Amino acid sequence: MSDPEDWFGLPECFVIQPFDGGQFDKRYEDIYAPAIRDAGLEPYRVDRDPAASIPIEQGFRRAGGSAKGSLAVIGDSTFLHSGLTGLMNAVHQRADVTVLIQNNTITAMTGGQTNPGNEKTLAGVETRPVDLVAVCRALGVEQVEVVDPYDYAACLAALRDGLAYDGTAVIVTNRPCMLFPRKIDGDGPYQVDEDLCNACQQCLKLGCPSLRTIEVTHRNRRKVEIDVESCTGCSLCAQVCKPNAITKVGVA
Ligand code: SF4
Ligand code: SF4
Repeated sequence: MSDPEDWFGLPECFVIQPFDGGQFDKRYEDIYAPAIRDAGLEPYRVDRDPAASIPIEQGFRRAGGSAKGSLAVIGDSTFLHSGLTGLMNAVHQRADVTVLIQNNTITAMTGGQTNPGNEKTLAGVETRPVDLVAVCRALGVEQVEVVDPYDYAACLAALRDGLAYDGTAVIVTNRPCMLFPRKIDGDGPYQVDEDLCNACQQCLKLGCPSLRTIEVTHRNRRKVEIDVESCTGCSLCAQVCKPNAITKVGVA
């Protein structure tokens, strides 16, 4: 696969999350599955695999059929809750898998509770956070890389490294959740110069909810604008915009 922006040609995205026949399923159907398909992958619910007596192990085993390995994505809270054993087993099974731990230092999916990776307990008492990198190394992972998720080129390089690695690799992202406990400091929102925008829509592939198309078109494709109220100023869209149509508000 020549274009790294299509997730390196991986055919499926394994989804390991709580499913309850209610709100968690709805979140999967409304948000996760469409986002995965938009990224060019097919979502694969491990819990629906009738052969999955031990879902994660079966997932790794199934992925083992791919010559390119596979990518598993998990949040920091879920990793500390139930991902540790899966990673330990992956190392033990010599699984060719890259595990991306999205460390946003909060349990965002269920409302912002702290977890053992945080510097405070749920009661607000200062404590010692779990060192995710040290834990992964202790479980036997030799290829561990920490990357800034707002550095697009660094993320692609880390994904290439992980997927090229022969064995179990881990990538840890290191930015806090953009909405909790506070928005990113010191970086204002971004904007699109409508005249420079060529409607390539590469920025939309990021899946950022602050980006949206407008009525104005170029070669029958809609141009894009940014909702400055919700933009957190992460700069990712500016990094992928080749005509440099996206700039920080107030910066010429
Ligand atoms: S990447 Fe840039 S040029 Fe392409 S649609 Fe987005 S704003 Fe416009
Ligand atoms: S700067 Fe980040 S948050 Fe703002 S529109 Fe671009 S990708 Fe979205």
